[in-house]
Amino acid sequence: MKKVALFGIGELPKFLLVESKGVIKEKFPLECLFLGELRPQFQGERDGQLLAEVQLEKLLSLKPKGFLFVGGITSYDLYSNGLNFVFGLAFPFNGFIVSYARLESQELELFKSRLRKEITHEMGHVFGLSHCPLPECVMHFSNSLFEVDLKGEDFCQRCKRELERAFLKLNLL
Ligand SMILES: [Zn+2]
Ligand SMILES: [Zn+2]
Repeated sequence: MKKVALFGIGELPKFLLVESKGVIKEKFPLECLFLGELRPQFQGERDGQLLAEVQLEKLLSLKPKGFLFVGGITSYDLYSNGLNFVFGLAFPFNGFIVSYARLESQELELFKSRLRKEITHEMGHVFGLSHCPLPECVMHFSNSLFEVDLKGEDFCQRCKRELERAFLKLNLL
């Protein structure tokens, strides 16, 4: 089975690591290995927010041989060129990063569900999927926590078919 290398950027509590590995294994035919916590890249940092692209470039540079993709989960709030903040970012067929800084909730199950949605969404981009017009689909673009909470944790039928084509292309099935 092909592998994803997962890193924490900053602190990644055990329960979030368990959730992250769990959702990747559940939704994608990949093995997910945690390779440790990294210090963030402060190049481009503004008021405590980190530049998503810089973190992702760093992650890609650390992808070990034999791993198909790389992923990062960060406690830091992220922004991207042209966007005030982002929940995550992906480079298709390379890797993703998700920030849980804005996903926290008093309700633990809600927090975990938001994290699963954002990881699934970014992994969808890693497999080449674009944003989906269906508001319930996990590939729907979310600009706010409200929109994250509105969408479901799963891919719609159309996105699922596209995903399966990508699995086949990459010999994952
Ligand atoms: Zn997206
Ligand atoms: Zn969809």
